[in-house]
Amino acid sequence: MVPIHKTPIWIQRIFPHRIWQKKDADEAVFLTFDDGPVPGVTDYVLDELAKRNQKATFFMVGDNVRKHPELAGRVLQAGHSIGNHTFHHLHGLRFGKDSYLEDIRKCDLILQEVLAIQTPLFRPPYGWMTPAQARKVAKEKTIVMWDVLSGDYDPKLSPRSILETSLEKLELGSIVVFHDQQKTKEVLPKFLPEFLDQIKERGLQTATL
Ligand SMILES: [Zn+2]
Repeated sequence: MVPIHKTPIWIQRIFPHRIWQKKDADEAVFLTFDDGPVPGVTDYVLDELAKRNQKATFFMVGDNVRKHPELAGRVLQAGHSIGNHTFHHLHGLRFGKDSYLEDIRKCDLILQEVLAIQTPLFRPPYGWMTPAQARKVAKEKTIVMWDVLSGDYDPKLSPRSILETSLEKLELGSIVVFHDQQKTKEVLPKFLPEFLDQIKERGLQTATL
């Protein structure tokens, strides 16, 4: 199966309460990294962003924040945004509304405890949540989806195709998904530096959500 890298407009329209891109963005794109903080991966991403003075948003898994509080702190100190990605990386369709919301709250709590922040941002793991979950979460948070899926987690994709497809789909206001986790540790160095260089060459700024 060929992965869908660009979220079609019709899909964006049938899921209200969620943002897929930011059309009002002024010369900016929005890079997002999911699933961290993970030592050896998140710090690599931070270094690459810092080299180019670029910013991103990190959707963190609460349990990883608990395990690696210093690394979570480094993300915050570098001026990046942080979003909630549940405590246990739950698939919304496999959990009832209450336990799903409880896991989001647990992630909020660890972010408050470790970083003293209250994030208004949420991204559902795997991109899936039920309409009832989404309605409830949307009362308190902005649900951030994406319009460009890099495919960095897919071992069948070459670094070259991840790079080329992501750059090809990128437009002003795009929200791009990457992952800072064990599965992408090997592939990130093979495409991310060039991706970051290329967006700079195109004159695009990076902004936090
Ligand atoms: Zn995730």
